[in-house]
Order: sequence, then structure tokens, then C-alpha cells
Amino acid sequence: MLLPTACPGCGTPGPAPCPACREQLRPAPAGPPPPGIDAWAALFAYDGVGRALVTRLKYRNARDAVPWLAAGMAARVDADAVDVVTWVPTTARRRRDRGFDQAEVLARAVARRLRRPCRRLLRRAAGAPQTGRRRVERFADPGLRCVGRPPPKVLVVDDVATTGATLAWVATTLRGAGTVEVRAVTAARTPAPVGGLPSAGRATLPDDVRQEERVDIQVSGRHTEVSDALRQATVDKIGRLSRFVDGMDRAEVHYSEERNPRIQDKEICEVTLEGHGHHVRCKVSAPDGFTALDRAVEKLEHQLHKLKTKLGRRTSGPGNDQFVATLPDDAAASAPRIVKTKQFAMSTMDAEDALLQMDLLGHDFFVFTNDRTGRAAVVYRREDGDVGLIDQVD
Ligand SMILES: [Zn+2]
Repeated sequence: MLLPTACPGCGTPGPAPCPACREQLRPAPAGPPPPGIDAWAALFAYDGVGRALVTRLKYRNARDAVPWLAAGMAARVDADAVDVVTWVPTTARRRRDRGFDQAEVLARAVARRLRRPCRRLLRRAAGAPQTGRRRVERFADPGLRCVGRPPPKVLVVDDVATTGATLAWVATTLRGAGTVEVRAVTAARTPAPVGGLPSAGRATLPDDVRQEERVDIQVSGRHTEVSDALRQATVDKIGRLSRFVDGMDRAEVHYSEERNPRIQDKEICEVTLEGHGHHVRCKVSAPDGFTALDRAVEKLEHQLHKLKTKLGRRTSGPGNDQFVATLPDDAAASAPRIVKTKQFAMSTMDAEDALLQMDLLGHDFFVFTNDRTGRAAVVYRREDGDVGLIDQVD
């Protein structure tokens, strides 16, 4: 059975990507491979449609482009120069949140095309102590370790490489364990920074730390026209907000119009921020779209600010992988308003996470499946400010 596909670039049903979006893809910028990598090929520049194709790979329902990407990537590799295909592993946390690793998905598809085995050769060591080094250097080291003994010729697959620093670390790690030839292929590549590519071990942020570059902002409208100016303002303002939010990788902004002519604030703006499995939502109304956008941004800053303290208590130290961690202290502190949302997805979690979700949504209660009991449960905010938990029993 052929499943219907849609273009991840523009959403049009049919081939992924559609011919129009393929035309817009720009070729990958030329440049030398990172240190330790014998050859590096990339399909297209990490820009415009190319960026949309890569960022949406992270979502299970937007992976229609994988076969097309894998075919193009495999075509740029000499199969004879490859014993085993592997991938640059994402952090365990990200893999857990998404349920899969998009680099692994690509690697397996590329390996099938090349008729070569695909094996996990790399793992990320979580929180390896690296005392005595500067923080920025610790940050740069993705903490890669080899799994078992790698073969002589390895092809490394990743979705996007920006500075090439992570690939350089991959090469160092594999060569340290006995690999002789390391090649790399990525779907996308950003231009090399002025001054050339960084060498392994130099203080450079690894590609996946620059997560804010990969925020995917979707703007849509119903019963109302979203002008180019409003669309641009939305991308700018919501994008700026993402800089204060560690790990936010998707934002959806939806404009609609209240049909009742007696209502003055008839432009409605709904925003959903998504990252690490968490959601932050808000819905506001205003006389026009631009004012609605400003009100939404202000309200989101306030919601995130309230969370900052809470999340700060739950985590320790720098480098933690939290969704919300770096909102500035001067964020707007307007009076809280109750937010109403229509959708409700019931998922399995513990009571602590349900409490967090309740606050993220700005609700006084949260219904979930308690992972301790496997049954429905509710956390709710009591009048005394504490939180109650109701568990379903037989
Ligand atoms: Zn398209």
C-alpha cells in the first residue's frame, strides 16, 4: 500500500519534497572536510527549504522526505569505501523525548541504498567529569565514546553539520579506536565560518548545541489573511523568544478571526512552543494581528518566567538539558490570566511531570495516565497553593 505523502517544505500533498521546493534548494557550500574526515558530502545548503526539510525530520509525522534524502546522500558516496554506516548519536535525552534519532533514521536508509551494514558505533557519555578544562571546552566536547571495535572504513551520517566540530570529534573518536578511513555525508551543510573550519578540541560549540538555529516556526491563518509583514514580524518575535528557551525546537502560531462583529478584540493569536516533550501554549485576542502578536509574546514571556524558578529547583548546575532555563529576570510580570485550550492529549508520566505540564499549560489541573498505576490521574492546584493528586482505582 502506498501511503500518501506531503512535501515537508510547503505541505502540498504528493512527492516529498515537491518539485517547486526542490528547485529552491541551494547547493551545499563547498569547503574542506573537518579535520580527521577524509571526505564530506552534503546534499544542499542549510537554508530556506533545505532547513525546513531537516528541521521537520525531527517529527515522526514529517519524515516523508527520508527516502529522497537517503537516495541523494547515498549517490554521493562510493560504497566500496565503506565497511559500515553509522550515525552521529543525539543526546539520550533528545532521543527519549522524540522516541527516535533522526540521524539514525537517515543512516539506516542510506545503508540500505549502499547495501552496507548499519551499526551503532558511537555513544554519548552523559556527564563525563572533565575537571580542569575551561567550561567552553567541556561544552565543545560532545562526549563521544566508541561502542565495540569499529571497522577500518566508516561512513558517518548526520542530518546537518554547521561548524563541522562534531564531525571532527567523531573522526578523533573512531580513529582512536582503530578506524583508518572516516567519511561523512550529511543532508545539509552551512557555510564554513570565516577563518576556516575549527580543529578538533578547539573551543567551538558542537552543531547540536546551536539548537536555536533549528527552531521551526509555522505561521497559519483561518478566516483571516496573514500578511507578509505580520508573518515576518511573527517569525522575528517568536524566534527571539526562542533564544531565551533552551531546547525549544518548534513553534506554531495560528491567527484566526472572531466572526461576531460586536466583539472588539476579534483577531485571535494562538501560540504553541514545543521542545523536549513539553508544550507551552497561549491564546490572546486583540483588535489587530500585530497587537495580538505582541500580547502573545508578552504572555509567553510571563509563563516562561514563572516556570524558570520551578525548573531551576528541579535541576542542578549548567549544562542541563532543560526546556526552559535562561529566561531573563526582567521578563514581563503582568497579572496571570487563565488560558483555555481545546486540545487535550492524555499521556503517561509521573505526578511530578504532570505538575510541570499543568504549569506549562497555565492550568489549575492536569489529567494524565500515572505511570506508577497505569491508570488515569489528576493533579490539581488547591486553594492553599499546594497541589493535590487524585488516582483512579478499580
Ligand atoms: Zn513543497
